[in-house]
Amino acid sequence: MSKQILILPGDGIGPEIVAEARKVLEKVNRLMGLDLTFSEALLGGCATDVAGKPLPDETLEKARSSDAILMGSVGGPKWDKIERSLRPEQGLLQLRSGLELFANLRPALLYPQLAAASSLKPEIVSGLDIMIVRELTGGIYFGKPRGIHTLENGEREGFNTYRYAEHEIKRIGRVAFEMAQKRNKKLCSVDKANVLEVTVLWREVMSELASDYPDVELSHMYVDNAAMQLVRAPKQFDVIVTGNMFGDILSDAAAMLTGSIGMLPSASLNGSGLGLYEPCHGSAPDIAGQGIANPLATILSAAMMLRYSLACPEAAERIERAVGDVLDSGMRTADIYSEGCRKVSTAEMGDAVVAALA
Ligand code: NAD
Repeated sequence: MSKQILILPGDGIGPEIVAEARKVLEKVNRLMGLDLTFSEALLGGCATDVAGKPLPDETLEKARSSDAILMGSVGGPKWDKIERSLRPEQGLLQLRSGLELFANLRPALLYPQLAAASSLKPEIVSGLDIMIVRELTGGIYFGKPRGIHTLENGEREGFNTYRYAEHEIKRIGRVAFEMAQKRNKKLCSVDKANVLEVTVLWREVMSELASDYPDVELSHMYVDNAAMQLVRAPKQFDVIVTGNMFGDILSDAAAMLTGSIGMLPSASLNGSGLGLYEPCHGSAPDIAGQGIANPLATILSAAMMLRYSLACPEAAERIERAVGDVLDSGMRTADIYSEGCRKVSTAEMGDAVVAALA
Protein backbone atom coordinates (compact mmCIF):
# COMPACT_ATOMS: atom_id res chain seq x y z
CA MET A 1 0.00 0.00 0.00
CA SER A 2 1.30 3.44 -0.83
CA LYS A 3 2.66 5.60 1.97
CA GLN A 4 1.36 9.16 2.18
CA ILE A 5 3.86 11.88 2.96
CA LEU A 6 2.54 15.33 3.78
CA ILE A 7 4.97 18.14 3.02
CA LEU A 8 4.72 21.44 4.88
CA PRO A 9 7.24 23.84 3.31
CA GLY A 10 6.45 26.73 5.70
CA ASP A 11 8.19 30.10 5.64
CA GLY A 12 11.59 31.70 4.99
CA ILE A 13 14.07 29.13 3.68
CA GLY A 14 11.49 26.35 4.32
CA PRO A 15 10.28 26.02 0.69
CA GLU A 16 13.88 26.05 -0.64
CA ILE A 17 15.21 23.30 1.62
CA VAL A 18 12.09 21.15 1.46
CA ALA A 19 12.24 21.18 -2.35
CA GLU A 20 15.69 19.56 -2.17
CA ALA A 21 14.54 16.95 0.36
CA ARG A 22 11.60 16.12 -1.89
CA LYS A 23 13.94 15.62 -4.87
CA VAL A 24 15.95 13.18 -2.75
CA LEU A 25 12.84 11.31 -1.58
CA GLU A 26 11.48 11.08 -5.12
CA LYS A 27 14.77 9.67 -6.35
CA VAL A 28 15.02 7.08 -3.57
CA ASN A 29 11.37 6.23 -4.18
CA ARG A 30 12.12 5.47 -7.84
CA LEU A 31 15.34 3.61 -7.12
CA MET A 32 13.95 1.41 -4.38
CA GLY A 33 10.26 1.13 -5.33
CA LEU A 34 9.03 2.48 -1.97
CA ASP A 35 5.58 3.50 -3.22
CA LEU A 36 5.66 6.94 -1.58
CA THR A 37 3.08 9.56 -2.55
CA PHE A 38 3.35 13.24 -1.76
CA SER A 39 0.97 16.07 -1.01
CA GLU A 40 1.52 19.60 0.32
CA ALA A 41 -0.30 21.86 2.77
CA LEU A 42 0.09 25.24 4.45
CA LEU A 43 1.54 25.76 7.93
CA GLY A 44 2.93 28.87 9.58
CA GLY A 45 2.96 32.46 8.39
CA CYS A 46 2.07 31.49 4.81
CA ALA A 47 -1.07 29.80 6.20
CA THR A 48 -2.02 32.87 8.25
CA ASP A 49 -1.66 34.97 5.08
CA VAL A 50 -3.81 32.68 2.95
CA ALA A 51 -6.22 30.96 5.36
CA GLY A 52 -6.31 33.36 8.31
CA LYS A 53 -4.68 31.00 10.81
CA PRO A 54 -1.30 29.28 11.13
CA LEU A 55 -2.73 25.75 11.29
CA PRO A 56 -5.72 25.52 8.91
CA ASP A 57 -8.18 22.68 9.69
CA GLU A 58 -7.43 21.17 6.30
CA THR A 59 -3.73 20.89 7.16
CA LEU A 60 -4.46 19.16 10.48
CA GLU A 61 -6.84 16.71 8.77
CA LYS A 62 -4.29 15.91 6.07
CA ALA A 63 -1.61 15.48 8.76
CA ARG A 64 -3.81 13.03 10.67
CA SER A 65 -4.39 10.88 7.61
CA SER A 66 -0.74 10.82 6.51
CA ASP A 67 1.90 8.23 7.33
CA ALA A 68 4.53 10.90 7.96
CA ILE A 69 5.04 14.65 7.72
CA LEU A 70 8.08 16.53 6.45
CA MET A 71 8.31 20.17 7.43
CA GLY A 72 10.64 23.01 6.46
CA SER A 73 10.42 25.75 9.07
CA VAL A 74 7.99 28.45 10.11
CA GLY A 75 8.20 32.06 11.24
CA GLY A 76 9.72 35.35 10.26
CA PRO A 77 9.70 39.07 11.07
CA LYS A 78 6.60 39.63 8.92
CA TRP A 79 4.46 37.88 11.54
CA ASP A 80 6.32 38.86 14.74
CA LYS A 81 3.95 41.63 15.71
CA ILE A 82 0.56 40.11 14.88
CA GLU A 83 -1.82 38.72 17.50
CA ARG A 84 -0.18 35.83 19.35
CA SER A 85 -2.71 33.16 18.27
CA LEU A 86 -2.04 33.91 14.59
CA ARG A 87 1.75 33.68 14.80
CA PRO A 88 3.45 30.92 12.78
CA GLU A 89 5.00 29.19 15.83
CA GLN A 90 1.50 28.72 17.31
CA GLY A 91 0.58 26.64 14.26
CA LEU A 92 3.52 24.34 14.89
CA LEU A 93 2.69 24.00 18.61
CA GLN A 94 -0.93 23.22 17.74
CA LEU A 95 0.16 20.62 15.20
CA ARG A 96 2.46 18.94 17.76
CA SER A 97 -0.26 18.81 20.41
CA GLY A 98 -3.03 17.93 17.89
CA LEU A 99 -1.04 14.87 16.82
CA GLU A 100 0.22 14.14 20.37
CA LEU A 101 3.83 14.16 19.24
CA PHE A 102 5.30 13.55 22.68
CA ALA A 103 8.72 12.14 21.74
CA ASN A 104 11.29 14.45 20.20
CA LEU A 105 14.39 12.72 18.83
CA ARG A 106 17.40 14.95 18.25
CA PRO A 107 20.54 13.21 17.06
CA ALA A 108 23.82 15.06 17.48
CA LEU A 109 26.11 13.36 15.01
CA LEU A 110 29.41 14.81 13.92
CA TYR A 111 30.35 14.15 10.32
CA PRO A 112 34.13 13.57 10.37
CA GLN A 113 34.46 15.84 7.33
CA LEU A 114 33.14 18.75 9.46
CA ALA A 115 35.13 18.12 12.67
CA ALA A 116 36.93 21.46 12.27
CA ALA A 117 33.59 23.33 12.38
CA SER A 118 32.94 22.28 16.00
CA SER A 119 33.73 24.76 18.76
CA LEU A 120 35.45 21.91 20.66
CA LYS A 121 38.79 20.25 19.91
CA PRO A 122 38.56 17.52 17.24
CA GLU A 123 39.77 14.81 19.68
CA ILE A 124 36.85 15.60 22.02
CA VAL A 125 34.15 15.50 19.34
CA SER A 126 35.38 13.20 16.58
CA GLY A 127 33.10 10.17 16.37
CA LEU A 128 30.39 11.95 18.37
CA ASP A 129 26.99 10.24 17.99
CA ILE A 130 24.40 11.11 20.66
CA MET A 131 20.63 10.73 20.51
CA ILE A 132 18.66 13.05 22.78
CA VAL A 133 15.10 11.93 23.51
CA ARG A 134 13.15 14.92 24.80
CA GLU A 135 9.60 14.83 26.18
CA LEU A 136 7.73 17.37 24.05
CA THR A 137 4.14 17.80 25.17
CA GLY A 138 4.34 18.09 28.96
CA GLY A 139 6.44 19.52 31.77
CA ILE A 140 6.79 23.16 32.69
CA TYR A 141 6.07 24.45 29.16
CA PHE A 142 2.49 23.19 29.39
CA GLY A 143 1.81 22.89 33.17
CA LYS A 144 -1.08 24.82 34.69
CA PRO A 145 -1.62 27.10 36.54
CA ARG A 146 0.59 29.59 34.77
CA GLY A 147 0.60 33.32 34.27
CA ILE A 148 1.61 36.71 35.61
CA HIS A 149 -0.51 38.28 38.34
CA THR A 150 -0.32 41.19 40.73
CA LEU A 151 0.24 40.54 44.42
CA GLU A 152 -1.53 42.40 47.23
CA ASN A 153 1.49 44.69 47.63
CA GLY A 154 1.17 45.73 43.95
CA GLU A 155 4.24 43.79 42.82
CA ARG A 156 3.85 41.51 39.77
CA GLU A 157 4.64 37.80 40.07
CA GLY A 158 5.18 35.29 37.24
CA PHE A 159 4.55 31.58 37.78
CA ASN A 160 4.57 28.26 35.93
CA THR A 161 3.89 24.70 37.02
CA TYR A 162 6.28 21.83 36.47
CA ARG A 163 4.36 18.55 36.52
CA TYR A 164 4.59 15.12 34.95
CA ALA A 165 2.09 12.30 35.39
CA GLU A 166 3.51 8.80 35.65
CA HIS A 167 2.11 7.70 32.26
CA GLU A 168 3.86 10.63 30.53
CA ILE A 169 7.20 9.62 32.03
CA LYS A 170 6.64 5.95 31.19
CA ARG A 171 5.83 6.51 27.52
CA ILE A 172 8.87 8.72 26.85
CA GLY A 173 10.99 6.34 28.92
CA ARG A 174 9.96 3.40 26.73
CA VAL A 175 10.87 5.31 23.55
CA ALA A 176 14.30 6.04 25.03
CA PHE A 177 14.97 2.49 26.27
CA GLU A 178 13.96 1.07 22.87
CA MET A 179 16.20 3.61 21.13
CA ALA A 180 19.11 2.57 23.37
CA GLN A 181 18.44 -1.09 22.52
CA LYS A 182 18.95 -0.26 18.83
CA ARG A 183 22.19 1.65 19.54
CA ASN A 184 24.96 1.13 22.12
CA LYS A 185 22.57 0.12 24.94
CA LYS A 186 23.45 3.01 27.25
CA LEU A 187 20.74 5.35 28.52
CA CYS A 188 21.34 8.39 30.71
CA SER A 189 18.24 9.92 32.31
CA VAL A 190 18.71 13.59 33.13
CA ASP A 191 16.79 15.23 35.98
CA LYS A 192 17.12 17.60 38.93
CA ALA A 193 16.01 15.12 41.58
CA ASN A 194 18.06 16.83 44.29
CA VAL A 195 15.73 19.85 44.12
CA LEU A 196 12.50 19.11 42.21
CA GLU A 197 9.95 16.52 43.39
CA VAL A 198 8.57 16.12 39.87
CA THR A 199 11.95 14.79 38.80
CA VAL A 200 12.22 12.57 41.90
CA LEU A 201 9.20 10.81 40.36
CA TRP A 202 10.87 10.95 36.92
CA ARG A 203 13.95 9.14 38.33
CA GLU A 204 11.80 6.54 40.16
CA VAL A 205 9.76 5.72 37.05
CA MET A 206 12.86 5.45 34.83
CA SER A 207 14.44 3.09 37.37
CA GLU A 208 11.28 0.96 37.50
CA LEU A 209 11.18 0.72 33.68
CA ALA A 210 14.79 -0.48 33.61
CA SER A 211 13.75 -3.98 34.71
CA ASP A 212 11.89 -4.38 31.36
CA TYR A 213 15.12 -3.60 29.47
CA PRO A 214 17.84 -5.65 31.18
CA ASP A 215 20.15 -5.25 28.17
CA VAL A 216 20.24 -1.44 28.59
CA GLU A 217 22.59 0.17 31.12
CA LEU A 218 20.65 3.00 32.80
CA SER A 219 22.38 5.89 34.58
CA HIS A 220 21.02 9.10 36.11
CA MET A 221 22.58 12.56 35.99
CA TYR A 222 21.56 15.98 37.32
CA VAL A 223 20.95 18.47 34.54
CA ASP A 224 23.69 20.88 35.63
CA ASN A 225 26.25 18.07 35.52
CA ALA A 226 24.86 16.87 32.16
CA ALA A 227 25.42 20.34 30.67
CA MET A 228 29.00 20.28 31.96
CA GLN A 229 29.67 16.72 30.73
CA LEU A 230 28.30 17.55 27.27
CA VAL A 231 31.07 20.07 26.72
CA ARG A 232 33.74 18.21 28.76
CA ALA A 233 33.42 14.65 27.45
CA PRO A 234 30.39 14.33 25.15
CA LYS A 235 31.35 10.90 23.79
CA GLN A 236 30.42 9.28 27.13
CA PHE A 237 26.75 9.57 26.07
CA ASP A 238 24.77 7.24 23.82
CA VAL A 239 21.07 8.04 24.45
CA ILE A 240 19.93 10.82 26.81
CA VAL A 241 16.30 11.01 27.97
CA THR A 242 14.94 14.09 29.69
CA GLY A 243 11.94 16.37 30.17
CA ASN A 244 10.77 19.16 27.93
CA MET A 245 12.71 22.14 29.30
CA PHE A 246 15.99 20.36 30.08
CA GLY A 247 15.80 18.67 26.67
CA ASP A 248 15.24 21.99 24.93
CA ILE A 249 18.44 23.40 26.40
CA LEU A 250 20.66 20.29 26.26
CA SER A 251 19.73 19.43 22.67
CA ASP A 252 20.76 22.88 21.47
CA ALA A 253 24.05 22.61 23.37
CA ALA A 254 24.67 19.15 21.86
CA ALA A 255 23.75 20.51 18.43
CA MET A 256 26.52 23.06 18.57
CA LEU A 257 29.09 20.33 19.26
CA THR A 258 28.53 19.25 15.68
CA GLY A 259 29.46 22.61 14.18
CA SER A 260 26.51 23.69 12.09
CA ILE A 261 22.83 23.94 12.78
CA GLY A 262 22.28 23.42 9.03
CA MET A 263 23.22 19.73 9.46
CA LEU A 264 20.84 18.66 12.23
CA PRO A 265 17.62 16.72 11.66
CA SER A 266 14.88 15.95 14.18
CA ALA A 267 11.81 13.79 14.60
CA SER A 268 8.73 14.16 16.79
CA LEU A 269 6.70 10.97 17.20
CA ASN A 270 3.39 9.96 18.72
CA GLY A 271 2.39 6.61 20.18
CA SER A 272 1.31 5.14 16.86
CA GLY A 273 4.46 5.90 14.87
CA LEU A 274 3.19 9.00 13.07
CA GLY A 275 5.99 11.52 13.01
CA LEU A 276 6.77 15.11 12.12
CA TYR A 277 10.26 15.45 10.67
CA GLU A 278 12.01 18.81 10.46
CA PRO A 279 15.44 20.42 10.61
CA CYS A 280 16.45 21.76 14.03
CA HIS A 281 16.99 25.25 12.68
CA GLY A 282 14.42 27.97 12.07
CA SER A 283 13.31 29.75 8.91
CA ALA A 284 16.54 31.80 8.62
CA PRO A 285 14.83 34.94 7.23
CA ASP A 286 18.25 36.60 6.89
CA ILE A 287 19.18 34.28 3.99
CA ALA A 288 15.73 33.33 2.62
CA GLY A 289 15.35 33.56 -1.16
CA GLN A 290 19.10 33.68 -1.81
CA GLY A 291 19.54 29.99 -2.66
CA ILE A 292 22.36 29.58 -0.13
CA ALA A 293 20.64 27.70 2.73
CA ASN A 294 21.98 24.28 3.67
CA PRO A 295 19.34 21.65 2.79
CA LEU A 296 21.18 18.75 4.48
CA ALA A 297 19.34 18.95 7.84
CA THR A 298 16.05 18.60 5.95
CA ILE A 299 17.39 15.82 3.73
CA LEU A 300 18.61 13.99 6.86
CA SER A 301 15.18 14.57 8.46
CA ALA A 302 13.68 12.80 5.43
CA ALA A 303 16.07 9.91 6.13
CA MET A 304 14.85 9.78 9.75
CA MET A 305 11.28 9.72 8.42
CA LEU A 306 12.05 6.67 6.29
CA ARG A 307 13.59 4.94 9.31
CA TYR A 308 11.15 5.79 12.12
CA SER A 309 7.73 6.20 10.44
CA LEU A 310 7.94 4.37 7.11
CA ALA A 311 9.93 1.25 8.09
CA CYS A 312 12.45 1.75 5.26
CA PRO A 313 15.80 1.69 7.13
CA GLU A 314 17.77 0.72 4.00
CA ALA A 315 16.49 3.81 2.19
CA ALA A 316 17.42 5.95 5.21
CA GLU A 317 20.94 4.54 5.21
CA ARG A 318 21.24 5.13 1.48
CA ILE A 319 20.43 8.83 1.94
CA GLU A 320 22.79 9.17 4.90
CA ARG A 321 25.59 7.51 2.90
CA ALA A 322 24.91 9.83 -0.04
CA VAL A 323 25.21 12.87 2.26
CA GLY A 324 28.54 11.51 3.54
CA ASP A 325 29.76 10.98 -0.04
CA VAL A 326 28.83 14.53 -1.02
CA LEU A 327 30.72 15.93 1.98
CA ASP A 328 33.69 13.72 1.06
CA SER A 329 33.65 15.27 -2.41
CA GLY A 330 34.29 18.68 -0.81
CA MET A 331 30.97 20.34 -1.64
CA ARG A 332 29.82 22.79 1.03
CA THR A 333 27.03 25.33 1.40
CA ALA A 334 28.17 28.68 2.80
CA ASP A 335 27.41 27.81 6.46
CA ILE A 336 29.82 24.83 6.50
CA TYR A 337 32.33 26.16 3.98
CA SER A 338 36.03 26.06 4.75
CA GLU A 339 39.06 26.80 2.59
CA GLY A 340 39.84 24.24 -0.08
CA CYS A 341 36.20 23.15 -0.42
CA ARG A 342 33.79 24.00 -3.25
CA LYS A 343 31.00 26.40 -2.29
CA VAL A 344 27.62 25.34 -3.72
CA SER A 345 24.04 26.60 -3.67
CA THR A 346 21.04 24.96 -1.98
CA ALA A 347 19.92 23.37 -5.26
CA GLU A 348 23.43 22.20 -6.21
CA MET A 349 23.75 20.49 -2.84
CA GLY A 350 20.37 18.76 -3.31
CA ASP A 351 21.30 17.68 -6.84
CA ALA A 352 24.62 16.32 -5.58
CA VAL A 353 22.85 14.14 -2.98
CA VAL A 354 20.42 12.90 -5.65
CA ALA A 355 23.36 12.02 -7.91
CA ALA A 356 25.20 10.26 -5.05
CA LEU A 357 22.12 8.09 -4.38
CA ALA A 358 22.49 6.40 -7.73
P1 NAD B 1 17.33 30.30 12.68
O1 NAD B 1 17.67 28.89 12.99
O2 NAD B 1 16.30 30.52 11.65
O3 NAD B 1 18.66 31.08 12.23
C1 NAD B 1 19.80 31.22 13.06
C2 NAD B 1 21.04 31.45 12.18
O4 NAD B 1 21.37 30.22 11.53
C3 NAD B 1 20.80 32.48 11.07
O5 NAD B 1 21.99 33.20 10.86
C4 NAD B 1 20.52 31.63 9.84
O6 NAD B 1 20.88 32.24 8.62
C5 NAD B 1 21.36 30.39 10.12
N1 NAD B 1 20.74 29.19 9.53
C6 NAD B 1 19.65 28.53 9.99
N2 NAD B 1 19.36 27.50 9.19
C7 NAD B 1 20.29 27.49 8.20
C8 NAD B 1 20.52 26.68 7.06
N3 NAD B 1 19.73 25.62 6.76
N4 NAD B 1 21.56 26.97 6.26
C9 NAD B 1 22.37 28.01 6.53
N5 NAD B 1 22.22 28.82 7.60
C10 NAD B 1 21.17 28.57 8.43
O7 NAD B 1 16.91 30.99 14.06
P2 NAD B 1 16.30 32.43 14.36
O8 NAD B 1 16.97 33.46 13.49
O9 NAD B 1 16.36 32.58 15.82
O10 NAD B 1 14.77 32.33 13.95
C11 NAD B 1 14.23 32.76 12.70
C12 NAD B 1 12.76 32.42 12.65
O11 NAD B 1 12.61 31.01 12.69
C13 NAD B 1 11.95 32.97 13.82
O12 NAD B 1 10.72 33.43 13.34
C14 NAD B 1 11.75 31.77 14.73
O13 NAD B 1 10.59 31.85 15.50
C15 NAD B 1 11.65 30.65 13.70
N6 NAD B 1 11.99 29.31 14.20
C16 NAD B 1 11.26 28.29 13.70
C17 NAD B 1 11.55 27.00 14.08
C18 NAD B 1 10.73 25.90 13.47
O14 NAD B 1 10.11 26.10 12.44
N7 NAD B 1 10.75 24.70 14.05
C19 NAD B 1 12.60 26.74 14.95
C20 NAD B 1 13.36 27.81 15.42
C21 NAD B 1 13.05 29.10 15.03
